[in-house]
Amino acid sequence: MKNKFFVDDNGYYGEFGGSFIPEMLYNNIKELQKNYKNFIRSVQFQTLYKKILKNYVGRPTPLFFCKKYSKKYKTKIFFKREDLNYTGSHKINNAIGQSLLAKQLNKKTIIAETGAGQHGVATATVCALMDLKCVIFMGETDINRQYTNVLRMKSLGAKVIPVCSGDKTLKDAVNEAIRYWINHPESYYLIGSTVGPHPYPQMVADIQSVISEEIKIQLKEMYGSCYPNYVIACIGGGSNAAGSFYHFLDNDSVNLIAVEAAGHGIKTKKTAASIHCGSKGILHGSMTFLLQNEDGQVIPAYSISPGLDYPGIGPMFANLFIKKRVKFLYSTDKEALREGYELIRSEGIIPALESAHALASLKKISFKKEDTVVVILSGRGDKDINVYEKFLTKNLSYDE
Ligand SMILES: *Cc1c(COP(=O)(O)O)cnc(C)c1O
Repeated sequence: MKNKFFVDDNGYYGEFGGSFIPEMLYNNIKELQKNYKNFIRSVQFQTLYKKILKNYVGRPTPLFFCKKYSKKYKTKIFFKREDLNYTGSHKINNAIGQSLLAKQLNKKTIIAETGAGQHGVATATVCALMDLKCVIFMGETDINRQYTNVLRMKSLGAKVIPVCSGDKTLKDAVNEAIRYWINHPESYYLIGSTVGPHPYPQMVADIQSVISEEIKIQLKEMYGSCYPNYVIACIGGGSNAAGSFYHFLDNDSVNLIAVEAAGHGIKTKKTAASIHCGSKGILHGSMTFLLQNEDGQVIPAYSISPGLDYPGIGPMFANLFIKKRVKFLYSTDKEALREGYELIRSEGIIPALESAHALASLKKISFKKEDTVVVILSGRGDKDINVYEKFLTKNLSYDE
């Protein structure tokens, strides 16, 4: 499993990545760096991981050939249904993988941050399953916005700690989780995306690579070829995109498209598009692209989808952007809402607002008739149903 786009022996993706961490975390990070690769690639891990994915999560998730969308866009469109995973998104894959590593390292307590609560719920779920203590950090603003997820985490036995610093959202929750980890080095920090110091970005990508592993097998069965012409995924930190692109990175005939959340637009301050609007700098332990002002202060991100409003992007993707292997597009709040709603009415699938950003990019690409296009539906949109409902009442053209 060598690939020029994977992390090198020093923890870098080209000029990005690394581990810029406080001295106090050095031993913890070293322990992970030393152990993660051998463990995650071992037969013992892979067997257990795949077994839990099958019997508990419900994998493999279907690859759904969508007739109506194929007709509409004059090409062959498939949806990878990550929304059908238990707990409602791809995040559970990562929570299971890292919890198994935590167990292997003899850790009893898991720390995690969460924004929308999706990663928090996935982590709390797996901790209940694996008898691990669970402490979740969540910004106060997010706690108020996503209260049902807070209730889910609490009922699963997790301790939810409100974070009141900064603008009380995801980036502040990450800072607080890191602070707690410094004081409780015996615990395991379970990061929810391909972000953070080395080895987290690569570890999360390795764990999520099951998504593209399945796509290859499923396409082969349906078409006799493993390789699609396009894979399209929304991108926050990058974990669903990394997992979906992973086994296609070294095949240039596969166009890889990552769709950022532009919020109100890339010319406005209310955006989460770190590649389109950001610049190089250090965020949460790695060199990457982030939204920052001239003084290097992080600018809070904004998107209608809570899973995408993070002011940075994983270092692997900063490199994939610079090396031009992945093409970056963006969708605004409005475009995502409209496309999400369209999918609901056309297919009876309620996509997460995050995933709707990927759908909204279909209009911006010109496909050939014989192209095979895979769109990742990263999660389900039950959590966003109030937002869809508001959109419906505001847009009379959608009223029957
Ligand atoms: C968290 C989340 C995302 C964004 O995170 P990535 O790490 O970029 O995948 C996308 N979709 C859903 C449904 C999510 O919950």
